[in-house]
Amino acid sequence: MGKNLRQAMFHEMEQQELFQQAHGYGQDYVDKFLDRHVYPDATAISNLASFHEDMPETGGDGAQIMQQLHEGGSPATVSQIGGRYFGFVNGGVIPTGLAARLLADYWDQNAALFVTSPIAATLEAVCEKWLRQLLGLPERVVAGFVSGTSMAILCGLAAGRYRVFQNAGWDINKQGFNGAPKVRIVTGRHAHGTVVKAIALLGFGSDTIEWVDTDDQGRIIPELIPQLDDRTILVLQAGNVGSGSFDDFEQICDAANKAGAWVHIDGAFGLWAAGSQTLSHLTRGAEKANSWSVDGHKTLNTPYDNGIVLCDDVQALTHALQASGSYIVYGDNRDGMMFTPEMSRRARAVELWATLKYLGRQGVDELLVGLHGRAVQMARELDAAGFTILNDIVFNQVLVACENDDLTNRTMAHIQSSGECWAGGATWDGGSVIRLSVCSWATTKQDITRSVQAFIAAKKVALEEAARA
Ligand SMILES: *Cc1c(COP(=O)(O)O)cnc(C)c1O
Repeated sequence: MGKNLRQAMFHEMEQQELFQQAHGYGQDYVDKFLDRHVYPDATAISNLASFHEDMPETGGDGAQIMQQLHEGGSPATVSQIGGRYFGFVNGGVIPTGLAARLLADYWDQNAALFVTSPIAATLEAVCEKWLRQLLGLPERVVAGFVSGTSMAILCGLAAGRYRVFQNAGWDINKQGFNGAPKVRIVTGRHAHGTVVKAIALLGFGSDTIEWVDTDDQGRIIPELIPQLDDRTILVLQAGNVGSGSFDDFEQICDAANKAGAWVHIDGAFGLWAAGSQTLSHLTRGAEKANSWSVDGHKTLNTPYDNGIVLCDDVQALTHALQASGSYIVYGDNRDGMMFTPEMSRRARAVELWATLKYLGRQGVDELLVGLHGRAVQMARELDAAGFTILNDIVFNQVLVACENDDLTNRTMAHIQSSGECWAGGATWDGGSVIRLSVCSWATTKQDITRSVQAFIAAKKVALEEAARA
């Protein structure tokens, strides 16, 4: 590194102008959060071409880099911090969580070990305890703080894999799959794609999955679950990504526990229902599972990159993730890397802690009841406007269709380009649907009504277009 470059960086640290600039742009972005075009317009997207430069030979200027990022980047963002983004299951951001993350970014901590970051380790330990209390999980449950639910599912199923092979007298870490005893994976037809991905990554082979048929809401039909035993992993779902439905944990977990099977619950956005006095009936019995995956960045509205694996079998989780065993020392201080596949990690528990502390139990309930209420309103108003609602609105998801697939797809395309709101497509029961996920605290009753108006206008244009076609 040349002397001038280092001097420039010292100067930038001391003067802090770059940070003020970033802060100013951030404020500018947040100022417009309610009126922003919900999805970037065509100009913003085509302007992204300016980023496709060759790798520069010589260093640039920090202030100019920040300017380019704001001018070209901010308009090309998806405005999910406002109240009218209903795509996927994405979630907004609670200001205190965002602010905590900004501070943690200045800290630039490595959350691997207590010695690499005492504050990160402490906040992980606090979050672990609070999550147990909030979600009603047993005392022995431990938490790993990972990037998202994809990774959390991988960890939960890796723990399950370790345990069911141990039950069969086999150490999967040491002995591997060659010549291994047979173990089984059972899940519902509506399991999320990331569950299938984790099963494949863990070497089970997705063709070996024993699929269980589901009802019209995507819930596993308990009577159709095959015979379980202590060499079987069963994956259930809290929050179907289409309908928002929940499996019948009480009944299924009792039977699975009796058989000694490992139960994982994919609760990416739905497990939070367990933390709401009003909605916890949806997750009744979920505490009887062995591992759970959930995202802070969805329903809880933390900033992105905030997934959590929870596990009631600390030995299975740590042995599955630290195959060498040599790291596994259960000390007084928490070493976060024991519960995650990664070693170095961002201190993501900082914003999770701040969000949980800001909301408290009552705030979590209010947040979830609000999302549910807005989803119910959305379904009611769309139904009154002649759209078909395909699911029971038990949580925050709404599946909408028009009279036929062509009209549904055309209507969705016009909604997406309207900038008024944004919703994505999916298939449900073999047909095209528009899927709405109400998962931001910022969505108001007015946002719902305004979005329904956008649906009505889009369908009108779609009908005209279809008549011409
Ligand atoms: C979003 C989601 C996932 C994947 O979570 P990521 O945080 O995107 O990795 C898995 N399962 C369900 C039900 C989801 O909604």
